[in-house]
Amino acid sequence: MTTLAEMAVEPIPVLPDEINDIRLKTAKVVTERIIPNEALLDTQGDERNALVEEIRSHVKEQGLWAPHLPTEYGGMGIGFLHHAYMNEILAWSAHSNPMFGVTAPTSGNQEVLVKYGTPEQKKKFLEPTITGEQTSCYSMTEPDYPGSDPRSLQTRAVQDGDEWVINGRKWFTSNGLHASWALVMCRTEDTDGDGGDNDKMTQIIVPTDTLGFNIIRTIPVWGATGAAHCEIVYDNVRVPLENQLGTRGSGHAAAQDRLGAGRVFHCMNCVGQMWRAFDLMVKRALDRNVHGGLLADKQFTQGAIADSFMDIQSARLMTLHCAEIIESGADPRTQISAIKVFVPHAMHRVVDRAIQVHGAKGVSGDTPLWRYYQKARTMRLEDGPDEVHRILVAKNILKHYKGGDAWDFGIL
Ligand SMILES: Cc1cc2nc3c(=O)[nH]c(=O)nc-3n(C[C@H](O)[C@H](O)[C@H](O)COP(=O)(O)OP(=O)(O)OC[C@H]3O[C@@H](n4cnc5c(N)ncnc54)[C@H](O)[C@@H]3O)c2cc1C
Repeated sequence: MTTLAEMAVEPIPVLPDEINDIRLKTAKVVTERIIPNEALLDTQGDERNALVEEIRSHVKEQGLWAPHLPTEYGGMGIGFLHHAYMNEILAWSAHSNPMFGVTAPTSGNQEVLVKYGTPEQKKKFLEPTITGEQTSCYSMTEPDYPGSDPRSLQTRAVQDGDEWVINGRKWFTSNGLHASWALVMCRTEDTDGDGGDNDKMTQIIVPTDTLGFNIIRTIPVWGATGAAHCEIVYDNVRVPLENQLGTRGSGHAAAQDRLGAGRVFHCMNCVGQMWRAFDLMVKRALDRNVHGGLLADKQFTQGAIADSFMDIQSARLMTLHCAEIIESGADPRTQISAIKVFVPHAMHRVVDRAIQVHGAKGVSGDTPLWRYYQKARTMRLEDGPDEVHRILVAKNILKHYKGGDAWDFGIL
């Protein structure tokens, strides 16, 4: 039977050779070196670490390291669309991205530093994350104010001489426990700037060994503490003014830059995971005899296969279309919000059906389906909950019509 890797060997005729080549090489690493070793990669210890090093050096030899970074920072320098096409292949395994030098939230911080960082910040904070000496975290969401309304956040930074003094409480700062520095969203201005209320925030880099950076607890997510989502109190944390990222008041714009692109990659991850769930489901249906016949011959199962095919096709094409819009330079905000709602719901449905077809095995540790199921549900909250994005889609469309323009579905 054709494997996932063999499918990706088939070049997509409309794509440039360069993208087809990246997809093929990526698929070979994911299916030959990562998927067969997922159980070991789920453990801790010397054997796992040795394997990780081996896979990473192979990835570097193949020229597939850090697809999100420009070449001058040791990355592939391939641009948005190429990376999106590569990402759906990476997503076949939850372990792939870190093996290719893409580890959230550090990868998002790296992209923001490339764009907004000073030469000194790049040397001190960006470069050590690329060599792997440091990791980082992104500290925006607060327990006492809604993350879905970032203008309401209250962690404050006040200038005192040549230092920023930060006070506040954050939570869900992923990787906070292991990070060398945090990128912290702080309220620095009291009056509106040119961008109105959007100009009151500034992002500031805080080394995690700074006095007053206090991790209160790690927050279990779906019962697991491993991902180190931290609640942090910033208690009179002092850092030099040069740790400010970009200009004063640019924090909101930098966050939008980061989250916008991030949402497309998260959706491409969902597509890749749905693809693998689908592959597992169909193979299981062709393999499992129930009530005197193969599951594949039962109409309920055929319905699950057909509906999942349609969910994946629509989610995938919407996401790729969104990546094309970004690559073209057109305003992608409506499409980004649309996929951020649609794709995790589609993934939820596909993974749910795949679990059902597998029976008890579907919720066991013998397949990755349990992980995908949790991811699909969590995605509806992370990076802005469904409601916020649905409102944004409707607002943008209504704005067009109120301005006398119909909505152009033919864009690109
Ligand atoms: C696993 C995980 C990892 C995360 N990692 C990070 C991280 O590294 N750094 C970081 O800063 N944050 C992180 N977050 C936080 C995440 O981005 C926020 O949870 C998200 O932005 C939502 O904010 P909130 O939880 O404060 O929900 P709230 O803003 O309190 O919203 C609660 C609910 O209200 C509803 N709602 C909101 N607005 C409206 C509306 N206008 N109309 C109707 N209903 C509405 C929605 O149903 C929403 O789910 C993470 C979250 C999770 C789950």
